[in-house]
Parts: sequence; structure tokens; C-alpha cells
Amino acid sequence: MENICVGVRVRPTVPSELSNGTYWKVEENRISLHKVHGTPISGLSYAFDHVCDGSCTNAMVYELLTKDIMHAAVEGFNGTAFAYGQTSSGKTFTMSGSETDPGIIHRAVKDVFAKTQLISDREFLIRVSYMEIYNEEINDLFAVENQKLQIHENLERGVFVAGLREEIVNNTEQVLKLIRSGEVNRHFGETNMNVRSSRSHTIFRMVIESKAKDTNLSSDYSSSDAIRVSVLNLVDLAGSERIAKTGAGGVRLKEGKHINKSLMVLGNVINKLSDGAKQRGHIPYRDSKLTRILQPALGGNAKTSIICTIAPEEVHIEETKGTLQFASRAKCITNCVQVNEILTDAALLKRQKLEIEELRKKLQGSHAEVLEQVILTLRNDLLKHELEREKLQIELEDERKSHREHDKSIWEQQMKIVDLCDIVTSSGFDTKSGQDSVTQCLKQECNDSNSICHGDTFRTPCVKASPKAFVAKRSSYLTLPDYSPLPDTFSNVVDEDTWLRINKGHIVDLDSLQMTLARKVQSFPSSDATPACSSEKYRQEVQYLKRKLLIATEERNELEREHAEQILLNHRLMDDISGLQKEAKLIQEMPKRLSESVADCKDIYGDVLSIMQSFVFDEKSTSAKLLSSTSEIGMCLFRTLETHFSMGTDDHIPFTGNNSLIQEQHKVLYEKLTSTITSLVLSQTPTTENEQLEVKQCSCENKVAAWSQLSRFHALIMILFSIMLLGLFYLNFFCILTL
Ligand code: ADP
Ligand code: MG
Repeated sequence: MENICVGVRVRPTVPSELSNGTYWKVEENRISLHKVHGTPISGLSYAFDHVCDGSCTNAMVYELLTKDIMHAAVEGFNGTAFAYGQTSSGKTFTMSGSETDPGIIHRAVKDVFAKTQLISDREFLIRVSYMEIYNEEINDLFAVENQKLQIHENLERGVFVAGLREEIVNNTEQVLKLIRSGEVNRHFGETNMNVRSSRSHTIFRMVIESKAKDTNLSSDYSSSDAIRVSVLNLVDLAGSERIAKTGAGGVRLKEGKHINKSLMVLGNVINKLSDGAKQRGHIPYRDSKLTRILQPALGGNAKTSIICTIAPEEVHIEETKGTLQFASRAKCITNCVQVNEILTDAALLKRQKLEIEELRKKLQGSHAEVLEQVILTLRNDLLKHELEREKLQIELEDERKSHREHDKSIWEQQMKIVDLCDIVTSSGFDTKSGQDSVTQCLKQECNDSNSICHGDTFRTPCVKASPKAFVAKRSSYLTLPDYSPLPDTFSNVVDEDTWLRINKGHIVDLDSLQMTLARKVQSFPSSDATPACSSEKYRQEVQYLKRKLLIATEERNELEREHAEQILLNHRLMDDISGLQKEAKLIQEMPKRLSESVADCKDIYGDVLSIMQSFVFDEKSTSAKLLSSTSEIGMCLFRTLETHFSMGTDDHIPFTGNNSLIQEQHKVLYEKLTSTITSLVLSQTPTTENEQLEVKQCSCENKVAAWSQLSRFHALIMILFSIMLLGLFYLNFFCILTL
């Protein structure tokens, strides 16, 4: 474990900015705020690895803070040096320097090449790249066309910027020339604070590969084949000042927001790392592109040096305090540093080995300088091809990924439709003919498309031989860290209070700030390419099936409605039927009851007749005859009724039977009744001489009694007639009923 090296560099005071209150005093490795008369202000004294005052040159700063890192990089250690501070505090001056006093980048490049010259037993291959992070977009400063590059990560290369141009170089001049051309592409802006102020972060990167020199050309890997690969990052950060103070607006303000937000994430990362290994938890490297690229340098496998530049003027006192607090926190960070030795094709030296050896053989005898130049050109060509291929591979992979996601979403949709179809079918709805076959077809198609999704149909053949070996030494940072979204754009900027608190070690809850979610996977292009056609076909099919499903669902709903109505009607009918059944039962019981009633009536009738017969003294009288015929008619009538009702009560004989018999008896009875009534009417007046004589012979009282008896007698006969008429009526009624 190794602590980060933290130094402070104080820029020379600008003469116009006079101080009349306080000043920063530098004593050895300590910087403290003093009052004008020299009294130190308590709580504002900071100690670092090195503190350089205004008189320090870039040469001295390089010697003190970064030289060791450069040398270590040549030996295979990752290294990072970055300048942090407010705008106009001297970051760019420190990193890039001036004509007379070259900066750290210049010196580092020179030093690295010088160092490699001294190591005669190793072969070196150095390549450089230069990028800028502007508004959270990575742009290539060596190739203007390479804009908005994406960060990728894999086991072999770790975190890398895909598509970034790399140039193989073999001397300082070459590199400086490339840097100069890159500078032209940088975004420069002007603010009130500085005439020329960079609004972007720049990262100059050197990848140094080296291997022990030997003549072994066999393809077998041995320990001498281990290649050291180290990455050196030299970073010039944009200003860390508060936005309000810049007084900028419009586009400039937006730039400021990005810069400060990006630095806020850096502050968060530093604060979290400085909490110590145990309290660290999740480090939000992924919350900004800057921290993601610098991930190995912050708590990972790298020797790191932070140069905090401060502007000594009193007007900048708050920013200076913030920078010093940031530096104090950074001092607590420890990195785990080790030489990176790898055996795989990840090393360019390894990949180019055979081609270069072949070329060397061909050009044997040529002048050494010419040979080296040709080799360099070949190497760059090979590298360009490789980078181009890598870029295409990444694009292809992205395309494939988006295709897979697209196919997957279609498949999911189709499965949903199939499920819905199944539900419709299983709910008893008799779908249209062919429904099952459609479902089957669809299922088949789904399976087919699924197999395509998971198959290798779209995979290009792997051009790279699978490495026989393994990553021999790879730092722990290469394992994928916890996910947190990569912000593309920031709509919010951290406020001043938060910014000041961050400098004091406060860790901002990034989730509470509005962050844009991770970049959406590029949607599948709607060109006339084959995959697009098939996707269009799928889309149409899905649309068609959706429509079909909608119609089927509507039909099912209609049927369900009708079904419910039918059930209601059924219930009503069942009620009616049970009512009718009850009535039918009553009707069935009616003949039995009537039969009983007839039997009762017959008894009463018999009783009445016997009583009446007791009043008849003369068997030959008219009354006796009338009574006799009435009795006969009555008995006949009751017998008829009894017969008829007994037929009705018998289950086996239908009640409807023998109507002709009833009608016949009815006729006979009617005739008898008519003749009896006629004879009764005639008997009301004494027609014969005997009768008239009887009447005359009776005493007056007897006459009255006899007449009254006769009248009662006749009345009784009338009642009997009434009963008989009633019986006739019943008979008629049942005739009608049975008909
Ligand atoms: P920053 O990059 O932090 O915004 P610069 O590096 O551009 O600031 O410095 C602002 C100005 O101050 C420049 O004109 C630069 O030449 C000058 N300057 C900064 N540091 C020093 C220094 N140590 N010695 C001399 N001039 C300096
Ligand atoms: Mg600058």
C-alpha cells in the first residue's frame, strides 16, 4: 500500500491584486494563512508532501512531485499526475509549461524516453493518446472525427476509451508535435477570471510496454515473454472554482456546471477513499467519465501524484481553502501498486512480435535509422488496423446487443399474445377456426426467433486466437465495480454550499441529485437492411395478431353478455314451471276431492229423500210419484258423477275418457228432469175430481195445514231439484274441462 503524493503549488502573485489583510505563507512542506503582520490564523495551516511557493519552477515541481512516478512507469507501474485547482491558479502552466519552462507533460515524455535508453536489456514500445472531456463527452484530440467516445471495460484491457486514436512513438519530438496538433482542437473559453481558461479536462496518456530482449522466436510462452504494460496519465483538470464567481452565463455557465459536477464526483470519490479501507463501501467511479478513467489512479493500482495549484490573492481565499481541504483529504488515500506483467495478447508487443521480426529479417543490412523508421511505420499501421477493428467490433457488439434486445422484446410481446390467446381459448370462447393453428404457428415462430436470439447467427468469426495463457498479474480494480449510472448530461449543478462542504470532506448523496440515467442503447436503425425488414415483418405480424385478439375479446364479451341474459331467463322459466307444477298437482287432486264431495252430497241427498218420504201418506199421490222420480234421477245423477270422478282419480285411466257416456247420461237426466218438472207444474193445481173433492172435504184448519205441508214438501222437492241442477252443472263443467 502506498499513499498518494500530494503537493501544493502557489502561483506567483499578480501585482495588480494587492493584499491588505491576509497572505499565504509557505514554510517547507507547510502552508498557512497569516495576517498582514505575520500572525498565523489558527485552523488554516496545512502540511503536504511538498509545498512549492511562487518562485518554484516547473523543473522543481517535476523533480519533487512527479519524476519518481515517470521512472516507475518505465519499470511497469501505472502512474498518474494531475493538477487540481481553481481557474488561473496555474494548472495548465504546471502541466504544459511555457517555452522557457516546459511543464510536466513535456518533461515526463522526455524523461521516459531518456530512461528507456538507459535500460538496454529491455525492448520498449510506447504509444500515446490525448483526449478531452468536455461537457461529459470524450473527444479525441489526435483525431477530430473521433467525438463522443464511449468508455468500455474488459478483462484484458481494463477500463479503456473505445475508438481513441493511439500513436506509437519513439522519441520526444514526435510526441510534442502530436500534442501541439492536439492542442489546436481543445476547447478554450474566456471568463472574467482569466484571459485564457480551459473549460475541459484533458488527459494525456502514455502506454509503456516492455519486454526483456531475447531472440526466442518460438510461439511457446516462457517467463521471459512476460510483458510489462503500464499506463501513465497526465491530467490537466478544468477550474474548480464556484460558478457564481465566474460571472459567466449562457453556454459558458453550462460548461461550468459540467466541470463542477464532474469535479464534485471526483471530490466524492476522494472523500470516500480517504475514509479508509473499512469505511469505503461503494466508490462512485462511474458517476463521471473523469473518475471512471482515473479509477486506477484513485485507490487502485497506480502511483499517483496530485498537484494542487492555488492562487495566493486574498480575493481567492475561499477557493484556496477549498483546494487545500481537497488536498488534505486526498493525502489519506492509499493505492495498491504493483508491476503489471502480462502474458496474453493484450500487449501490443506480443501481438506485433512476429510481424516485426519478419520485417527485421527482410531489412537486414539496412541502415539502423531507416530500419527503425520502417518498423515504426509498420507498427503504427498495424495499430491503426487493430484500433479500427476494435472500434468496428465494439460497434458490432453494440449493434448485436441492441438487436438481441429488440428480438427479445418482440419475443416477449409475442409470448404475451400467445398467452392471451390461450386465456381466450381456455375461457370457453370458441375462437374462429384456425385459432389453434395460428397460436401454434406463433409459438413455433417465437421459438425460432428465440433460438436466433440466443444463437450465434449474427456473430462474426473470432479473428483473434484465444489466449493460451492468462492474465498473470492484474490488479483488483479490473473487476467490475458496482453499477451506478453514467451521467450523460447534468441538468443540475451542485450549489455553492454543497461544493464547499465537499471540500471539507462531505460526501454528497449523488442519488439525491438529478442525474441522467445511463445511455440508452441505440435503437435499431430502420433502414432497408435485412434485420430491419424482419423486424418490420414482426411488427406487422404483432399488430395483426393484436387486432385479431381485440376482435376475439370483443366477441367473447358479447357472448358472455348474452349468456348472462339467458341464465336470467332460465331462472324465470324455472320459477314459472314450479308454479305450474304446483297448480297441476292441485288440479290432479281435484277429481278425488270432487268424488268425496259427491259421496257426501249423495249421503245428504239420501237423508233428505228418506225424510221426505216420511211425509208421504199416499203412495199413489202425485207427490209420492214426484218424489220417487226425483229420487231416481238424483241417484242416477250421483252414480254418474261417482263413476266419472272415480275414473279421474284412477292414475291409469286418463281423466279425459268416456265423454260420450257423460253426454248421453246428461241427456237422459235432462229429459227426466224436464218431464218431472212438467209433472210437478201440473200437480200444483188440482186437476182431478178426487183432488178437488179432498180439498173441499178438509176443514178449513186442516186445509191450511195440508197446504202448508204440501208447500214445504214442494219446497224440499225444489231444493232437491236445485241439487240436481247443481249436479248437472258439475257434469257440464267436467264435460267442458275434460274436453
Ligand atoms: P489554470 O490552468 O489553472 O486556469 P493557468 O495555468 O492558465 O491557470 O495560469 C494562469 C496564468 O498564470 C497564465 O498566464 C500562466 O502563465 C500564469 N502562471 C500560472 N502559474 C505560474 C507560475 N508558477 N509561474 C509563472 N506564471 C504562472
Ligand atoms: Mg488551465
